[in-house]
Amino acid sequence: MIYLKSCPRCGGDMHLTNDYYGTYRACLQCGNVVDLDETPYDVPGLRKVGDRMDSQAA
Ligand SMILES: [Zn+2]
Repeated sequence: MIYLKSCPRCGGDMHLTNDYYGTYRACLQCGNVVDLDETPYDVPGLRKVGDRMDSQAA
C-alpha cells in the first residue's frame, strides 16, 4: 500500500511494509521510517484457541 505525500519529513510518498520488528511506513524519497501502533495482522481468535488448549491440558 502506498501513502502519497504522507512523509512528515519531506512530504514524499510512503509505502507500508513490515519485518521482524513489526509494521511501519517507509518513505520512498528520503527513507524516513514511521512506526505504526496498529497490528493489522493480529488475529485475536488464535489467542482464544491457545487458552482453550491450555485449560484442557490442566
Ligand atoms: Zn520522506
